[in-house]
Amino acid sequence: MTAVGEPNAGLALPAGAGAEAILAAAFAQWGEGVVLVTSWQAEGMVLVDMIARMGFRPRVFTIDTGRLPEETHAFMAEVQRRYRLRLQVAAPRPEEIAALVGGRGANAFYQGSLDRHLCCEIRKSRVLDRLLRPAAGAASAATPAVAPVVAWITGLRRGQGPARQQVQPVAPDARHPGLWRLAPLAPWSEAQVEEYTRRHAVPRHPLYARGFRSIGCAPCTRPTAPGESPRAGRWWWEREEKKECGLHDPARPPQFDVALAGLLSLATGESLVS
Ligand code: SF4
Repeated sequence: MTAVGEPNAGLALPAGAGAEAILAAAFAQWGEGVVLVTSWQAEGMVLVDMIARMGFRPRVFTIDTGRLPEETHAFMAEVQRRYRLRLQVAAPRPEEIAALVGGRGANAFYQGSLDRHLCCEIRKSRVLDRLLRPAAGAASAATPAVAPVVAWITGLRRGQGPARQQVQPVAPDARHPGLWRLAPLAPWSEAQVEEYTRRHAVPRHPLYARGFRSIGCAPCTRPTAPGESPRAGRWWWEREEKKECGLHDPARPPQFDVALAGLLSLATGESLVS
């Protein structure tokens, strides 16, 4: 068993526990406090299927960034029907999108890392923040109180690129102190994901059939060429080892905090000048 201070502290797990053992331990220990966060890629679909086969039915969170390919919307609906997901779809705040587009431009992410991180922050990371930690008092008769999130499950794998080589199956969430991030497929290879998908006839996002190996927002995702890394089709104008958004890596480019504060002040109508 693991002890406090080791990577898997927080769950009672035998050394080398596999994906199903991690999931079983998490649901046994934290119950409704465990949620699955997915963007409908192959790894997320393995987890959707695996969890359903194990007999669990957790809340499933996904983010509609406003820039998803239409294929993702159609696929999401198909998966929800097939697995009867308890799905919660969350979107960025309109006033923050207005500030982002008005302040930086609709497709400013192509200009470089700062604008790309600002877009990911407003369209993805801040949305996930609100999903994982809804504002206190948000529950009402229409939206009854639900168990607070303790741990969220993600399909991250170490083989997805240099930025993910240190991913632990169970680890404290760097962005959300006090929460756990579970990556049960961390040590899996792409071939293992494909083998599971085939063996269990797991639904597959249609863009994989068109050469995509990692799928996100439409303007930031393209098919990969033979020999390229799976993440080469994401933000291809950036360096490979830097390809992460704030969901999984708190590191940001210089000037990020100042630029974000400026956009958020635009969104709230507050002036930065006193
Ligand atoms: S992936 Fe591209 S469009 Fe989507 S949030 Fe990030 S920068 Fe914006």
